[in-house]
Amino acid sequence: MALSSPASTRAIQWRQPRRLTAIAHALLNGRCQFCAIPTASWAICRGCHEDLPWISAACQRCGLPLASGAALCAGCLGAPPAFDRSLALWSYTSGIDTRIRRFKLAGDLATGRLLTAIAAAQLRARQWRCPAPMIAMPLHPRRLRQRGFNQAQLIARWLGGPSIDTIVARPQYTQSQRQLDAATRRANLRNAFMLKRQPPKAVTLIDDVMTTGASLNALAQCLRAGGTEHIEVIVLARAI
Ligand SMILES: [Zn+2]
Ligand SMILES: [Zn+2]
Repeated sequence: MALSSPASTRAIQWRQPRRLTAIAHALLNGRCQFCAIPTASWAICRGCHEDLPWISAACQRCGLPLASGAALCAGCLGAPPAFDRSLALWSYTSGIDTRIRRFKLAGDLATGRLLTAIAAAQLRARQWRCPAPMIAMPLHPRRLRQRGFNQAQLIARWLGGPSIDTIVARPQYTQSQRQLDAATRRANLRNAFMLKRQPPKAVTLIDDVMTTGASLNALAQCLRAGGTEHIEVIVLARAI
């Protein structure tokens, strides 16, 4: 069977940021949330927008920033992940890292919403086409109870739509992956995900940060085992 291509499937509609940013802007008294200078209509001024750590050249498969302009990184040439294409908007540095942590770990939803609105505006501007629906990286129920929300699910909702949260479960509790090397992460993630029903032929996975890509790869493998043929990834930031 031929691979379904993004061109032949329904595409995600990235949200118009106007309404979100109007709300944020009113809350912030008309100032740039990054440098606090007064701005006309957008919660980030042009200078701060340009100063965000945008990734301009990256591996098409895994989103890793590349200086060479090559299409694929060495890792993806050797052992490609189970997803077909990735886009990471920012490097996980330069204030993006602290803002994402504030959103995810301190529950600052306004910050998460603003970052996602900036991301959605960028995806619209680039006319970035991804297959619908989105599937947010699931959280284990225990982690969800601790945090009170799934940041990836919120990002998917704020990016636009459609998104589906009922296809994959994460029944196995995996300890925080942050301190672990790649091999241990992979071992931890074996059988971390479980399909609850037949997944679509093409999907876009959403997460806040891609580090080694091990979790997204495990999720993609789970979906492929259920019959998904084309898998793309969008993350706000990529750790380097
Ligand atoms: Zn600014
Ligand atoms: Zn790569």
